[in-house]
Amino acid sequence: MLERIFDRGQFVLGPEVRAFERECAEYFGVAHAVALASGTDALALALRACGIGPGDEVITTPFSFIAPVEAIVAVGAVPVFADIDPASYTLDPARVESALTRKTRAILPVHLYGHPCALEPLMRLAARHGIPLIEDCAQAFGARYQGRAVGTFGAIGCFSFYPTKNLGGCGDGGMVITNHGRLAEHVRLLREHGSRQRYRHLVIGTNSRLDELQAAILRVKLRRVDRWNAARRRHARMYDARLRRLHWAGISVPTEAAGGRHVYHLYTIRARRRAALQRALERNGIATQVAYPSTLPSQPALRRVRRRVTACPVAARAAREVLSLPLYPELTARDIAYVVRAVARASRTGAA
Ligand SMILES: *Cc1c(COP(=O)(O)O)cnc(C)c1O
Repeated sequence: MLERIFDRGQFVLGPEVRAFERECAEYFGVAHAVALASGTDALALALRACGIGPGDEVITTPFSFIAPVEAIVAVGAVPVFADIDPASYTLDPARVESALTRKTRAILPVHLYGHPCALEPLMRLAARHGIPLIEDCAQAFGARYQGRAVGTFGAIGCFSFYPTKNLGGCGDGGMVITNHGRLAEHVRLLREHGSRQRYRHLVIGTNSRLDELQAAILRVKLRRVDRWNAARRRHARMYDARLRRLHWAGISVPTEAAGGRHVYHLYTIRARRRAALQRALERNGIATQVAYPSTLPSQPALRRVRRRVTACPVAARAAREVLSLPLYPELTARDIAYVVRAVARASRTGAA
């Protein structure tokens, strides 16, 4: 597979990338898929293609990785933070509604941890205000909402192929998917220095191309991603069944909203005494992760940036309580039992 690429000697935006784009468009049942250099670029170019720029407000979540906020700030727009729903950790549509102003030009939800956000009410709000919904699907490749893949609901869906994502390459990569030919064309133009024809630049673009080696690797992995997501879901059910018994000790398991298909990019519990639990697990050789220890509006990087923040107590509480346990397709029932026993022991001794 890799030899084929070296023989051809074309290393960016070649036949592998085109085939990967075609296969992704088919996977999602959309008209267009445009491969890019990263998920962060996917968000920034999606915003630009939607015409979002200086002075515009974009409503997004305070509880996520920072990339969507970087993208909003990069195009000169103002991030507006609306609080999350405590069960799904994704944007609360009621909070979004009260954050809408005349300047709101887009809604940018994140399907956090692999759980689809409340797409139907958010789509309704976007439609009522005549603004696009831009989906951050970086953690949710293959997640579904009412039977349909996330990324296909809004005007445009943004994906990341960073190695740790559910569909991850051996390096960076990203993609936008859309049914709007105009948006796809615009992103294609932006990723190649604003040019369709060599040395003729129609707009100021950037360099955001996927390389052939990544595309070839991702093509192979795309054929397996549904199987891997199914394995993640099986592991999550196993954790759920065992960890639910620890509710008395202040442990709560993730939920899956009715009509949603969670793909468990992360398996994230809440723990009343998180720091102690994390230490106890670490002593047992179990690596855990806090995603995320603080809300986005409280990041030092945002202090000097124009932004609007509504009160986000739900996000602030999540930042204090969430803990992601090991979850990946290759995990075994024995691994899960080992983790659960360690959590239970820590809970009994009061460490959690
Ligand atoms: C990983 C991630 C991104 C950014 O993707 P990169 O490919 O690393 O640039 C964007 N949004 C969320 C929610 C992510 O988790």
